[in-house]
Amino acid sequence: MASDHVDVLIVGAGLSGVGAACHLRRNRPEKTYAVLEARGAIGGTWDLFRYPGIRSDSDMYTLGYSFKPWTNPLAIADGDSIRDYVRETAREYGVDEHIRFHHRVLAAEWDSARARWTVHAHRDDTGEDVTLTCAFLFTCSGYYRYDAGYTPDLPGARAYTGRLVHPQHWPADLDHTGRRVVVIGSGATAVTLVPALAERAAHVTMLQRSPTYVVALPARDALADALRRFLPPRAAYPVVRWKNVLFGTATFQLSRRAPKLVKRFLRRAAKSRLPAGYDVDRHFSPRYDPWDQRLCVVPDGDLFTAIGQGRASVVTDRIETLTATGLRLASGAELTADVVVTATGLNLLVLGGMTITVDGERVDLARTVAYKGMMLSGVPNFAMTIGYTNASWTLKADLVATYVCRLLTHLDDTGQQVVTPLAPAYGELEPLIDLKSGYVLRSVDALPKQGAAAPWRLHQNYPRDVLLMRHGRLADSGVRFSRAGTPSMTDRLPGSEHAEVGDPADTPAG
Ligand SMILES: Cc1cc2nc3c(=O)[nH]c(=O)nc-3n(C[C@H](O)[C@H](O)[C@H](O)COP(=O)(O)OP(=O)(O)OC[C@H]3O[C@@H](n4cnc5c(N)ncnc54)[C@H](O)[C@@H]3O)c2cc1C
Repeated sequence: MASDHVDVLIVGAGLSGVGAACHLRRNRPEKTYAVLEARGAIGGTWDLFRYPGIRSDSDMYTLGYSFKPWTNPLAIADGDSIRDYVRETAREYGVDEHIRFHHRVLAAEWDSARARWTVHAHRDDTGEDVTLTCAFLFTCSGYYRYDAGYTPDLPGARAYTGRLVHPQHWPADLDHTGRRVVVIGSGATAVTLVPALAERAAHVTMLQRSPTYVVALPARDALADALRRFLPPRAAYPVVRWKNVLFGTATFQLSRRAPKLVKRFLRRAAKSRLPAGYDVDRHFSPRYDPWDQRLCVVPDGDLFTAIGQGRASVVTDRIETLTATGLRLASGAELTADVVVTATGLNLLVLGGMTITVDGERVDLARTVAYKGMMLSGVPNFAMTIGYTNASWTLKADLVATYVCRLLTHLDDTGQQVVTPLAPAYGELEPLIDLKSGYVLRSVDALPKQGAAAPWRLHQNYPRDVLLMRHGRLADSGVRFSRAGTPSMTDRLPGSEHAEVGDPADTPAG
């Protein structure tokens, strides 16, 4: 059993974990840290997913880190380029030397007497169990299960004689050249896969139960291209980043305030890229409002182009059963398929499946309230990274990491050791992730909650969060600072924490 201690322990070496470590290096270089990563590689999502065409659907000026300009001319980038960017960043900041691969974190136990976490990990390469201790635990473990994507029950799947694949586990030996492919689903993965597969397949059919909003955006950013000619990347990057932030924020707000108008606009935009007479209402006009679920971006309208050229088509119907040669649909239609791709989504997993215990009591995450979307009520010296649902993940990840550095500085400056979020004293609680997508709804009961007002409310608004998290007060009414030995709080839901007697050494909040 190996055992050691660091100031900050980061879980996960994806975009967020590498970013968190870089922020620490930049802002608190004297702090010791380690990154525990379950897999054998850096990059998380951008290393795991290998399906044809894998790419971002956010622009890289906002999906990139605040401190490292994205210099690739493509604003919507392929998975390999994103993985290379994350690895290069890790190398640049020496973070790669602090990553311990093949360490899956299983459990973390907080001890108030020592103000310390004991973290248990399992090494899948050696079979060894490893224990580390740390003062602050920072989870950057993404939001979904790595071992299994979500596949609904497909009647007749056993009878099907072609290849049935999930995009999360794309077989390296699968050659779809000249094959008839059916992609089940209509989310970001499906709309990415369809035009990419259609380049070599005989034909690709996107089979969806109901439509999704699909919007075409330029693969290159005109402002970035213009600025690149006379400004160095460090000067041009923040300008393009803020332009995209403000555009994204404005369109989200407009979608929320005038959904009918945005609906009409999206319909018209799709129609203009589809062949004359195409049934845009059946295949591209969802029943829900824009941003009830994430919009799907297609660079330069590649999906619409593939449809226009007859290489791909969309069928909106229900599956009755898989057959030996394809699928039979509720309408009675049959689709022949050599390959069926289940682009049916992810299985949500909070905190990478690890259990959290505070002073011997197991924390039920569903009975916690998130503070500023990044800490949990009643859980001391702990932060987690969950990105925006309506904007690039990294915008929030950068803010969370910056905030953690500020907290560490505040603890040192005030001679305290412990920061514990409180739950709101009153008010309605809602799930932390407010999307109505299937993967969220399937796991909604296991999610932490959010409160009705700041600092427990997620506004999904980056400019507002910049003020709150980069410049806002640390010692606000939602948090308690204390010294080692302060008893923990036993109830993490509204009501009781504020009534608890704090340690006399607590920083007054308010
Ligand atoms: C196909 C796909 C496309 C996406 N496109 C976009 C996009 O365009 N824009 C956007 O904003 N978001 C997108 N997302 C969301 C995406 O996950 C984030 O952009 C971002 O990659 C998340 O980074 P992360 O480091 O937080 O999580 P991840 O990339 O999931 O990395 C988490 C890391 O933590 C490790 N880990 C997990 N649990 C443990 C544990 N218990 N112990 C040790 N290690 C652990 C994992 O092995 C992994 O390496 C996409 C997601 C998918 C699946």
